[in-house]
Amino acid sequence: MKILIIEDEKKVAKFIRQGLEEEHYTVDVANDGENGSKLAQSGYYDLLILDILLPKKDGITILKEIRAKKIMMPVIMLTAKTSIEDRVEGLDSGADDYLTKPFAFAELLARVRSLLRRGSNEKTTILRVADLQLDIVSHKAKRGEKIIELTGKEYALLEYFIRNVDRVLTRTIISEHIWNYNFDTGTNVIDVYINHLRSKVDDGFEKKLIHTVRGVGYVMKDE
Ligand code: CA
Repeated sequence: MKILIIEDEKKVAKFIRQGLEEEHYTVDVANDGENGSKLAQSGYYDLLILDILLPKKDGITILKEIRAKKIMMPVIMLTAKTSIEDRVEGLDSGADDYLTKPFAFAELLARVRSLLRRGSNEKTTILRVADLQLDIVSHKAKRGEKIIELTGKEYALLEYFIRNVDRVLTRTIISEHIWNYNFDTGTNVIDVYINHLRSKVDDGFEKKLIHTVRGVGYVMKDE
């Protein structure tokens, strides 16, 4: 899953980015409102963490712009403790949640997870397809009784596949959601990663879950 942070305080942005990357999210950061707004409107992100006071364009304006364009990714606002008006205006403008600075990373992470769950029927922190299970808190994967060891990128790919079960994912969509925006999609890196992941998930099992859609991309299916 890919997350955009729009935050001009570089230290705060770095702290959030590092924490989220350790949890295997792919993270882009914009340090001003103009650049942030442009990235937010790309449609590549699964969630936005948005500061309110920003140079060039403020967070509330960015929020109104993306909602006007029907971009419905969940948005967590970061606000100062004192500004109740910002929070109210932000929630009224389509933010899903807010955190007041300073906040504990664990709390941000719990809210990120909760917002990414919304819209699906998930009530737990374990995602399932057939006999495959992925725990999004511990990052442990299991197929039947077999423990699957995953690298960070493999975890991110597998989570994305499971959340998009039955949907054909092109290499472009995969790269947009799993790699940073400056990633070169001309390489075959994605295929290499998917082949590794596929052998970990499907080798030795009669039922295959990850399928190639020739000339298009990949799909995870339970059938
Ligand atoms: Ca700020």
